[in-house]
Formats: sequence, structure tokens, C-alpha cells
Amino acid sequence: MARYTGSVCRLCRRENLKLFLKGERCYTDKCAIERRSYPPGQHGQGRPKFSEYSVQLREKQKVKRMYGLMENQFRRTFDMAARVKGNTGESLLVLLERRLDNVSYRLGFASSRGEARMMVRQGHLLVNGKRVTIPSYLVRMGDVVSIKERSRQGVRILSALEGSQRRGVPEWADVDRESFSGRIKLLPARSDITAPINEKLIVELYSK
Ligand code: SF4
Repeated sequence: MARYTGSVCRLCRRENLKLFLKGERCYTDKCAIERRSYPPGQHGQGRPKFSEYSVQLREKQKVKRMYGLMENQFRRTFDMAARVKGNTGESLLVLLERRLDNVSYRLGFASSRGEARMMVRQGHLLVNGKRVTIPSYLVRMGDVVSIKERSRQGVRILSALEGSQRRGVPEWADVDRESFSGRIKLLPARSDITAPINEKLIVELYSK
């Protein structure tokens, strides 16, 4: 599957927002956006254009990059959200939040969503005791997500769990760090997503 292989800090600078793509480094003064808070590239410091389309496009790119998805995956999730009864923008965010890679990150098992995705693919994660290797797997209420016993002493996992205390755990989950597991108490809601996102702009963009 195609994936972005360039500098992830460029993505934050492009969106002018910390997307937290690099784990612990994002919380230090080495964060690229703290040092150079203007878009990358030759015209980065020029006057930005704000057409209606560019504002909608930037919002979509921001969310897509935050969750680490490629365009076709993001579009598929949007189409799925459009089939759910209710507000499409909110359903989109809830579906993104329910992805297993995101949930593992939120529970503190990885220091970034990218790292969480790798962990899922490599088979370190269990859902209700069964190995799941699909990062886009959608968790359900009551699911228990845990780290496979043999993977628990991995340095990355231990340091992610330590660092995660700073981020905290979302209201919709309970984490038991002793047993390397977390339970989904409730499905995430739009109000649980605190990142500055205007999902209406994404709906407008895809509705053109
Ligand atoms: Fe973004 Fe993290 Fe890089 Fe900062 S360190 S620019 S938050 S990926």
C-alpha cells in the first residue's frame, strides 16, 4: 500500500498545527513547528491564498494527516460516514477515532498513530484476546484491546506507556497499565475530540 515517506514535520508545518506525528519529540522544543512556524518550501513564507476551496482542502488534509491516512482510505471512511444516519462530519470523526491504530495510540500503547499502526500490522495487538492486524479495524463498545504477552517488555511499548501519562486517557476508555490492556467503555463522541477540526468543511469539499 502506498504511504507517505517524507518528513512528517513538514506536514505539521504545512497545516500550521501540531499533528503529533513523532511521538515524544512533539512535546519537546525540538518540535519543528515551534522552531519554524511557517509552511515548508520555497514559497512557505509568502502570502497564503484563502479561497473557499483551499480552506476546505486544508481542513481535509489536516484531518487525513492527523490520522495518518492516504486519500483513498480517507475517502472510503468518508463514504462510510455518509451512509451512517446523522451528521456526516461527526460520523467521519467518530469512525476515525474508532480505528484500532488510533485506539492503541489513545490508550497509550504507542507514542504516535504511525507507531500504533506498525504495532497492529506486526501483530502485537489483541482485541478480546484475538490477534488483529488490520489498523482500520473499528472497535466496538465493550471491546478489550491489549498487548500480546510476548510483546509487553518491548522498549517502545514501555516508553510509550510512560509518556502517555502526560496525554491522559480519553473518557471513553479505561486503561490498566499493569495488564497492558484497555477497555472501550463507550464509543467515542464528537465532543471527545478536542483537536481544532471543522468537519463541515470536509463535508462541503466532498459534496462538490
Ligand atoms: Fe509535528 Fe511532532 Fe514534528 Fe512537531 S515534532 S512538527 S508536532 S510531528
